[in-house]
Amino acid sequence: MIDTHAHLSDQAFEGRLDEVVRSAEDVGVERIIVPSVDLQDAIKVKSIAKQYKGVYALVGVHPEKVINEPEFKLEIDKLVKLIKGEERVVGIGEIGMDFYWDKQKKTKKAQVELFKKQLELAVVMSLPVVIHMREAEEEMMEVIKSMDRVPRGQFHCWSSGGDFLKLVLSKGFYVSFGGNVTYKKNGVLVDLVRQTPLERLVLETDSPYLAPGELRGRVNEPKNVRIVASFLAGLYEKSVEEINEITSKNALELFNKMN
Ligand SMILES: [Zn+2]
Repeated sequence: MIDTHAHLSDQAFEGRLDEVVRSAEDVGVERIIVPSVDLQDAIKVKSIAKQYKGVYALVGVHPEKVINEPEFKLEIDKLVKLIKGEERVVGIGEIGMDFYWDKQKKTKKAQVELFKKQLELAVVMSLPVVIHMREAEEEMMEVIKSMDRVPRGQFHCWSSGGDFLKLVLSKGFYVSFGGNVTYKKNGVLVDLVRQTPLERLVLETDSPYLAPGELRGRVNEPKNVRIVASFLAGLYEKSVEEINEITSKNALELFNKMN
């Protein structure tokens, strides 16, 4: 199994990373991809990736950065410096747009700019992107449609509607669902899983958030990706082994620097 999204740099894992990574390996998680949320976090994420054989890093700036710091301007050179020549950095993320934390959309311009710059960089560097989107469907659709070329990438923790899913799939993106897909009132998400072809699905936990199933409310960990995998196996009417095999193959195609 490959957990494509676990924030191992989060405080929740402070002092117990060895155990968290080992217990994931013990249940068959071969690789873990760790996104960063800003440039500071990227340094920490990269050092974690160097510490463990199966752990890889993403470098990028999350939209919350400009929500919290509207004056923030991304110096693209700094981002490039963190990525260039780094074998363990396998993509740009997590980037995206979020109006859940900015209902008034005061930071719309800044978010669009930050997002576009990183998409363009991904095209130039031939790297995949990992995209976060919350309550920003329309705005993101506009950005994606406006670009001559979009990089390959993954929409993580999917929560948007079917029309947007269709666009995303038509542009070649992969999709992953968080542990919330396993929750009781998950009908909408289950419908969306059913519209997602297996060859575009990858697994994620979004640790330490969204612990699946019975673990809801606890600190989530990469080892729990098997709970998401077995839930998805039920929906696709496949064995867990098949789900693991296909989603791992997909993840290796997407994050091809891991090969
Ligand atoms: Zn995330």
